[in-house]
Amino acid sequence: MTNYDKARSSILEKINVLEAVEQPLMDCIGQVLAEDVYSEYDLPQVDSSAPDGYAVRSVDIMRASKANPAILQIIETVRAGSLPKKKIRSGTAARIMTGSALPKGADCVVRFEDTDEPADKNGPNSGNPSEVKVYLRVAPGSNIRKAGSTIAKGALVLPKGALIGPAQISALTANGKNRIRVVRRPVIAVISTGDELIAAGRRLSPGKAYDCNSAAIASLISHYGGIPMVLGIARDNEESVSAMMRKGAMADAIITSGGVSKGDYDLIRLVIGKIGELHFSRIKMGPGASFAFGQTHGTLEGGTGGPIPVFALAGPPSGCLINFETLVRPALLKMLGYTKIKHATVKATALDSLPDRKAIAFVKWSKLHDSRGEYRVKLNCSEETGTLASMAMANSLTIIPEGAKVEAGDRIQVLPLDWCLGPVHQD
Ligand code: AMP
Ligand code: MG
Repeated sequence: MTNYDKARSSILEKINVLEAVEQPLMDCIGQVLAEDVYSEYDLPQVDSSAPDGYAVRSVDIMRASKANPAILQIIETVRAGSLPKKKIRSGTAARIMTGSALPKGADCVVRFEDTDEPADKNGPNSGNPSEVKVYLRVAPGSNIRKAGSTIAKGALVLPKGALIGPAQISALTANGKNRIRVVRRPVIAVISTGDELIAAGRRLSPGKAYDCNSAAIASLISHYGGIPMVLGIARDNEESVSAMMRKGAMADAIITSGGVSKGDYDLIRLVIGKIGELHFSRIKMGPGASFAFGQTHGTLEGGTGGPIPVFALAGPPSGCLINFETLVRPALLKMLGYTKIKHATVKATALDSLPDRKAIAFVKWSKLHDSRGEYRVKLNCSEETGTLASMAMANSLTIIPEGAKVEAGDRIQVLPLDWCLGPVHQD
């Protein structure tokens, strides 16, 4: 049996980052940028107004106050998207909207709030004024966004390795990018195994079970940025398992579930050994101790040309998901080019006890909540609701190291699951 840390690192050793591809920006959420991106423009391109207000010459309002306003003649209105037509000369002002180009001659902008512009108007000033009273003196340069102050031409917008999320999409789009080079998404073949399995939607009969692992695995693959290729259910004979695994060799990795423990019909390890190499099987962590990892031979017909990893996850749904989260997720993130692939953990106060020491590390589906700035975690959820529902209602995993016990009140490490609603505030 391999312990968890060793299993994880020997998997990661065999995983390579995938190649870069150019893609539409909007398809890149959760992917890693494969090149430095520099700004092609000064943004804003010209000096622009920060607020809605009046573009003026600061010398004309040097003595302005509420009691003694500077009165200026309005010569035009500059709106966003078009350029000013007139120059500001002594005694004149232009109405100017946020983001619009500053007229020549003006060296500052006075906010509408500091003029006689009606405070409660919605939309245009219906009074169509020809003059403005300015109540405040502002220094030269006030309320102006200088050209290039948002970002200068040639400056780095985002470095290679950045993770693309909404803020990165915003910054890149603001620079006119609609395609970027990112590490490509892995295509991952998903295979369930078992003579008892049937697809959801059909009527269940005694002895049969719904195949929920393929659906769960496919959704986790998508969640972490991969592309699932669900191949279906292989039956418990060597031909069926082998044929489906060979089909899976066209993907970047294969994930199976079930058929990896010690039963007569558990054929996954046997088949991995025939189509490739089995690196290890069984880990010292449960649920999900029946886990195996191997690689196909690079020469498989229809394959990608290189050996591809095969993750054989445990059959029981809880162990299967725990295997994915703890052993497949790091590999998937590495393929996608992530450099930070460890789960973040938080320290929480245990609300209940686990007095039994176990021979292997064990994993609890747990409920983490934030109680006035302190995390608390409930570990024994399955007693109340059964395994399946406790898994479905958990928001975290707690890994209890081999030989350890937990007393209520102990401070323990908890791993929040980022695909669940986070540790919500509860009281
Ligand atoms: P096995 O490792 O194949 O002996 O499976 C162990 C347990 O997990 C059995 O009760 C199986 O019915 C169950 N199981 C295996 N594969 C799946 C699956 N894809 N969906 C739901 N349960 C499964
Ligand atoms: Mg089976």
